[in-house]
Amino acid sequence: MTEKKSAVIIGAGIGGIATAIYLAKNGYIVTVFEKNSTPGGRCGQLKHDGYRFDLGATMLVMPAIYREIFESLGIPLFENTEIKPLDNLYKIYFDNNEVLTFSMDKEKMRVQLEKIEPGSFAKSQKYVSDGYEIFQIGINKLIGRNFDNIFQFANFRNVGMLIKLKTYISNWKYVKKFFHSSHLRMAYTFQNIYVGQSPFDSPALFSMVPAAELTEGSFFPKGGMYTIVEKLLAEAVSSGVSFHYNKPAAKIRVTGKKAESIVFEDGSEVMADIIVANADLPYVYRKLLPDKGKSRRLDRLKYSCSAICFHWGLDKVYPQLGHHSVFLSDGFREGLDRIFKDKSVSDHPSFYIHAPVRTDPTAAPDNHDSLSFIVGAGHVDRKKKQDWDELKRKTRIAVIQRLKQLGLEDIEDHIKFEISYTPENWEKACNISRGSVFGSLAHNLLQMGYFRPHNQHSRYKNLFFTGGSTHPGNGIPNVLLSAKLTAERILNN
Ligand SMILES: Cc1cc2nc3c(=O)[nH]c(=O)nc-3n(C[C@H](O)[C@H](O)[C@H](O)COP(=O)(O)OP(=O)(O)OC[C@H]3O[C@@H](n4cnc5c(N)ncnc54)[C@H](O)[C@@H]3O)c2cc1C
Repeated sequence: MTEKKSAVIIGAGIGGIATAIYLAKNGYIVTVFEKNSTPGGRCGQLKHDGYRFDLGATMLVMPAIYREIFESLGIPLFENTEIKPLDNLYKIYFDNNEVLTFSMDKEKMRVQLEKIEPGSFAKSQKYVSDGYEIFQIGINKLIGRNFDNIFQFANFRNVGMLIKLKTYISNWKYVKKFFHSSHLRMAYTFQNIYVGQSPFDSPALFSMVPAAELTEGSFFPKGGMYTIVEKLLAEAVSSGVSFHYNKPAAKIRVTGKKAESIVFEDGSEVMADIIVANADLPYVYRKLLPDKGKSRRLDRLKYSCSAICFHWGLDKVYPQLGHHSVFLSDGFREGLDRIFKDKSVSDHPSFYIHAPVRTDPTAAPDNHDSLSFIVGAGHVDRKKKQDWDELKRKTRIAVIQRLKQLGLEDIEDHIKFEISYTPENWEKACNISRGSVFGSLAHNLLQMGYFRPHNQHSRYKNLFFTGGSTHPGNGIPNVLLSAKLTAERILNN
């Protein structure tokens, strides 16, 4: 009988847990080591005084990818669980208090869009159907596959594919071909921030994000997005994976062309046939591996933006807010420049609010509310140092001011407690390089597909990577695909 191979995984984020299941189901003895006391990483959860908050991810979008991956892991996700489609994806508020509710209901969309700009409903339909085609081509040819060599990515046939994927034009220039209204241009491009970039600099490929939302819908699991982590965790445990928390890796010990073991901060060491790093890839090269040349090269790459987040427990419910609300400031471009050029935050920021009590009353005590705010912010940059506590203070004032303008005059008086995260907090919480929580690496064309750092180390062939900073990128659907692709790479090795 052949002996079972062992795999150790650094990090119990979505990428680490999903990879663990694939390997355990294929005969590996798998052990996961997580630095924090709980799993989930950027899809973590916080409970306080009867309130519950999703710390990072709040939207379940691109459900077809979840379905595919969970089915392949043997987990029934949508069957018999309380994962519900939302009728309204999100409410978008503009500075003049004009509201546009992104909805699966086409008639509702038609009435709203025609009011903002006559003729824009048909344009929106075209933007969405073209964007959804881009999404499907992207899944088949770019996002959902491993690349073994550069010729598979940059070949003559793929030039046509890259043109179809609208990689030659910025998302902003592209949206201008559809809408005259600046509000509509903002509404159909702000989703670039999900992958940590500005629509002014990122390819129109990312028009696929609102297109996928408006085609496949947005879902929310009862219990919050952490339910996804719990489901993965339960399957991992029943497949024999063991988990160790409060166990930060300090070093990956290598000899010759092999990654031999993980050495932990407490001095203990674990040997394995295979090592998989779910921790942020540039961090792993910088802190856990000896090759400083590669780390310096990674340091010169582009990084996604970060976020200032507030979680408030309130003793009052504000029905004006929907489950997901997006506030887009008229200083949209200026705000993005403050984030991406100055590595700071706008004085009048665009921001997002998660109010899960609207669809899941278990997120707060009766007649109370749990609100989470995400405000795009620059990442930590040693050349553009910021006083993040001061920026957080200013951002809080700006957010409250905007809510007062909407009629939530007394909101400040009803905040019972606040928990907040700055880019520096994010960097520390999950070891994300520069606190670039939507990557960490940016998703420009030269950092995607074959050009994104590979999921197998080029020298230590038994060292693999999984998660948002390797192929295909950030966001839970991508991270789930990353786990599948990394597992395929390992199993075909
Ligand atoms: C504010 C915010 C909002 C978001 N919203 C959405 C959304 O609505 N929908 C969506 O799909 N996605 C969203 N995302 C993105 C999504 O949360 C991430 O893409 C995904 O959770 C990343 O998973 P991962 O496995 O790649 O990495 P992580 O979650 O970062 O997991 C890596 C794990 O490794 C651990 N680790 C690091 N260093 C070590 C070490 N030395 N030793 C041991 N363990 C270590 C970390 O603690 C962490 O648990 C959001 C992210 C943020 C931050």
